[in-house]
Amino acid sequence: MNARTLPHGRALEGLADEILRRHGLPQSSNVALLPDRHPQYRQCERHGRYQTSRIDADGTVRYIMPADCSRCRTERQLETLLDRAAIPQRYQHCDFDDYRIMHPAQRAVVDVCRRFATEFAINRDGRGLILLGPPGTGKNHLAAAIARVLLAQGHTVLQTTVWEVIDRIRETWRREDGPSERAVIEAFAAVDLLILDEIGKQHGSESERLSLFAVLDSRYRDCRPTILLSNETRNGLESALGAASFDRLCHHGILLQCLWPSYRRQGGQIHGA
Ligand SMILES: [Zn+2]
Repeated sequence: MNARTLPHGRALEGLADEILRRHGLPQSSNVALLPDRHPQYRQCERHGRYQTSRIDADGTVRYIMPADCSRCRTERQLETLLDRAAIPQRYQHCDFDDYRIMHPAQRAVVDVCRRFATEFAINRDGRGLILLGPPGTGKNHLAAAIARVLLAQGHTVLQTTVWEVIDRIRETWRREDGPSERAVIEAFAAVDLLILDEIGKQHGSESERLSLFAVLDSRYRDCRPTILLSNETRNGLESALGAASFDRLCHHGILLQCLWPSYRRQGGQIHGA
């Protein structure tokens, strides 16, 4: 017997149950539809608990829309924007255990990176890392190792280059049908950890630089850490970022010098620039 042949009452009951089922709510119960306790939360199976309502200072209940997990939303935005995973293909296998330590100076740098990953959830002031050193010293490997730990903990991460960020921002200037420049900057700013490689002396036009620093500034103000990777020296990095941004990021982060010989020249397994 299908719903159409049922008496109206039962057909409606079936419809109500169907709607509740589709929205993942308990069936034949109005409790979930008429909540009296706020803030309310839902559970994302990947990212844990997230808030769906709040109470304003005047006692008004506000439902947070869209009522989905904000970390899932950030991931979707980034996937649409970049059409790839959070960690670039060539670094996806990198973790702390397969990072080869061949020089004493590496040990201290690895320890700081490990601690950064394990203490990420309690690092509420947005303190980031700056890894400087010649190509082939494994900076991207260490950054990917941090990224993997955080992804496993349910954080959102993006490992990218300055050029990829600038390119996506530049695209918004050319195209009318895509996301706005503001939306793209917000997507890069919203990720829990942003890893930015190839910070160098030349970052295109002044307007491109301003857009890039809008991302960094927004993250800084929201206490979201950024990891910067660069082949530059400390002075080179300062001139690339501009004194103001450099001061903010350095005062607020840990500067690590990767000054051991390149793995590549020794035919090592480490991938990284
Ligand atoms: Zn989620």
